[in-house]
Amino acid sequence: MTVIYETRRARLAALLAEHGIDALLVTRGVNVRYLTGLVSSNAAVLVREDGSAVLATDSRYIETARACPGVEVVQERDVAGALVKMAERPGIEAHDMSVARYRRLGGEPAPVEGVVERLRVVKDEGEIEALRTACDLTDRAFAEVITTIAPGMTERRIARALDARMVELGADRPAFDTIVASGPNGAVPHHVPGERPVERGDLITMDFGALYDGYHADMTRTVAMGTASEWQRELYDLVRAAQRAGRHALAPGAGIQEVDAAARDVIAGAGHGDHFVHGLGHGVGLEIHEDPFLRPAGAGRLEDRVPITVEPGVYLPGRGGVRIEDTLVTRAGGPELLTRTTKELLIL
Ligand code: ZN
Ligand code: ZN
Repeated sequence: MTVIYETRRARLAALLAEHGIDALLVTRGVNVRYLTGLVSSNAAVLVREDGSAVLATDSRYIETARACPGVEVVQERDVAGALVKMAERPGIEAHDMSVARYRRLGGEPAPVEGVVERLRVVKDEGEIEALRTACDLTDRAFAEVITTIAPGMTERRIARALDARMVELGADRPAFDTIVASGPNGAVPHHVPGERPVERGDLITMDFGALYDGYHADMTRTVAMGTASEWQRELYDLVRAAQRAGRHALAPGAGIQEVDAAARDVIAGAGHGDHFVHGLGHGVGLEIHEDPFLRPAGAGRLEDRVPITVEPGVYLPGRGGVRIEDTLVTRAGGPELLTRTTKELLIL
């Protein structure tokens, strides 16, 4: 890993001049982690034009920081204040810093946005391996928990079972708040699991994932409890076809809008365009939602080795919904599927 962090900092250093700065004061925790390996709630790193870096943190993290390869370390509570003085024309991460904190820094550091986030889009194979493990834990937890779901079990209990199983299998923790939405609750894309017991004839949507070594898996499956009616099967087949179209559109060089449209057009063609109320997917990595975002108004093109979700859904108010989501990685030879749970309609 030693070389990886130095390579990342060198890539960042090479971008500084085009922003008119000679160093970047990185204060966003996830970006500090990406550039140094340090996981801390109070740390910042200054990366200079020549690739050298100074990492500041307080006494709680100082020993871990000293073990980070290739960086000078300073112990200071005010991490940003300590580092900003060490450059002539420093930039700051404007999307991370409050106006108050900016004022306290003094001088006039140049606000820049999303520079490290942009670097993080294309993953190295080590990052993809961590995601692969996270997705495998997610698949395994699902396979085990669905054998225990029965009428009368509440949404909340199912969510807790998924969370617990992921951790028992080796996840650091759930990657985000698990969604379990049953029956009519399935019409709410981000339903918070509650005390509703699942019933025979329900569709149950489960959206969850494992966090492993800092990397976030994200998967959604909709299953049927006991039996599936005609409209439920039709809706499922539609979303499944849209999801397949979206997956097949994933390729290095593909336009963001085109990928979103590949799936959206399938749903719109069936008259449900107004019931697909969110973007098609999002990047995953050190954050659960990160660039690139697949949406109708999205700009730009996909690159190679970008982990991303494809998650179309159709939501029918008062009745229920279906969402199917995988985490994949763009590859020149076709996308690599990381979440491998079947997309056949499962009837529990
Ligand atoms: Zn999800
Ligand atoms: Zn997602």
